[in-house]
Parts: sequence; structure tokens; C-alpha cells
Amino acid sequence: MSNETTASDGERKASVIVVGGGPAGLSAALFTAKNGLETTVFDTDETWMHKAHLFNYLGVGSVGGSEFMATARQQVDDFGVDRRQGEPVTTIEIVDGGFAVETADGIDESDYVVLATGADRKLAEDLGCEFTSTDVVDVGVNMETSVDGVYATGAMIRPEEWQAAIAVGDGAAAALNILSTVRGARFHDFDVPDDAGRVFGEVLAE
Ligand SMILES: Cc1cc2nc3c(=O)[nH]c(=O)nc-3n(C[C@H](O)[C@H](O)[C@H](O)COP(=O)(O)OP(=O)(O)OC[C@H]3O[C@@H](n4cnc5c(N)ncnc54)[C@H](O)[C@@H]3O)c2cc1C
Repeated sequence: MSNETTASDGERKASVIVVGGGPAGLSAALFTAKNGLETTVFDTDETWMHKAHLFNYLGVGSVGGSEFMATARQQVDDFGVDRRQGEPVTTIEIVDGGFAVETADGIDESDYVVLATGADRKLAEDLGCEFTSTDVVDVGVNMETSVDGVYATGAMIRPEEWQAAIAVGDGAAAALNILSTVRGARFHDFDVPDDAGRVFGEVLAE
């Protein structure tokens, strides 16, 4: 991988909490974990993907929604995401320089929060994110909300254009913006063919 964001000795890694593990949330988590940020995903597995079958996801001929999710989960797990399946996030508070994210199991803190809870916009509302006149969370192309460090992605930012490919793009855009902010320069996650050997070398050798 060409652009890993690694913390040098003694330097704390930036951390990201993603709320929601559908296509939008897992896409964000893939990019941030793959590039060295400490990444946690909380998910309650009510993704619409369990009702879907994809014929319209470019590059994929035909795949069941649940099967798509199983592959996506394996992919983020392989890149080191701490995926907390079955743990609903109840509240998010802004604390000194970051966020305190509460579940029934306790409180986790992070520098950034990516909201990816489908059409459920409650956490965004509680955090004080601005909404548009069509009552969706107001973001720009980088998925930044009006609250510093909080990103919103997927179904919650669109009145109707609900497609897996769009949600995955939103998650990627949020993650790249976080990575650019952490690094202080525009970040590109560009891999080249030799990276496949490095990443999957042991698997390919088997
Ligand atoms: C019947 C049906 C068919 C569809 N067919 C297609 C299709 O053919 N092609 C296509 O591209 N799209 C299709 N879609 C749409 C597609 O499923 C959505 O666009 C996509 O799932 C949206 O992704 P998302 O990540 O924004 O939200 P979701 O996939 O809804 O994921 C949100 C996740 O957040 C979790 N969550 C919510 N609140 C919390 C919380 N407080 N704490 C922790 N986790 C939380 C939920 O459990 C869920 O797992 C279909 C949808 C439906 C309903």
C-alpha cells in the first residue's frame, strides 16, 4: 500500500468511530483502518442490504445483499477494524478534542466520528448537526457536517437516492477527508499491482 498513515514511536494514532456497519460505514472504516487509523465500527445489523440483491453495483455481476455484507465485513476485519457487532450506540458527546461514544458496554473515545446509520438521523440531530430544508443531514462532497470532526454518510444525507454504490462512495469520501486532515496534506489511497503481492503474499503462496 502506497500511503499508509502510521504513527511514529510514541505518537498516538488518530482514532475514528464509525456508527453503522452498512455499505457506507464499512467503506469509511476500510479506508481509515487500511491507512493506519485506529478504527472501531458499532453496528446493529439492520442494514437494508439484507433485503437487497445487487445487479447494479458496477464491477459485480450479481450478488445477494447479505453475501455482499459478509465479504465487506471480512475485508474490514482483515485490515484491522475493531467491529463491534450488535452494540447500538446510544449517545455521542463532544468532549475535549474529540468524542465520547456510549453503548451499553461503556464509553469509547475517538478523534473523529462517521455517522452511517442509514436513514436514522437521530444521533446527528442530538449532536446538533445542521439539516437541509429536505430534512436530511447537511454535508458537502467531503461528507463533513456542520459539527467539526463529525461526518455523515449514506442514506441519512439523501432524501431518496438510496443505492449501495452511492453509500460506499460517501464512506470513502469521508475517510479520505479524515486522512487528509490527519496528515495535513491531500491523501490518495492509490495501490499498484505489486501491493497485492505484499498484502496477500502469504495467502497467494498457500
Ligand atoms: C428492499 C430493498 C432493496 C434494495 N435493493 C437495492 C439494489 O438492488 N441496489 C442497491 O444499490 N441498493 C439497494 N437497496 C438500497 C441499499 O440497501 C441502501 O442504499 C444501503 O443499504 C444504504 O447503506 P447505508 O450504509 O447508508 O445504510 P444501511 O445499509 O441501512 O446501514 C446502516 C447500519 O447502521 C446500523 N445502525 C443504525 N443505528 C445504529 C446505532 N445507533 N448504533 C449502531 N448501529 C446502528 C443499522 O443496524 C445498519 O446495519 C435496497 C434497499 C431495500 C430496502
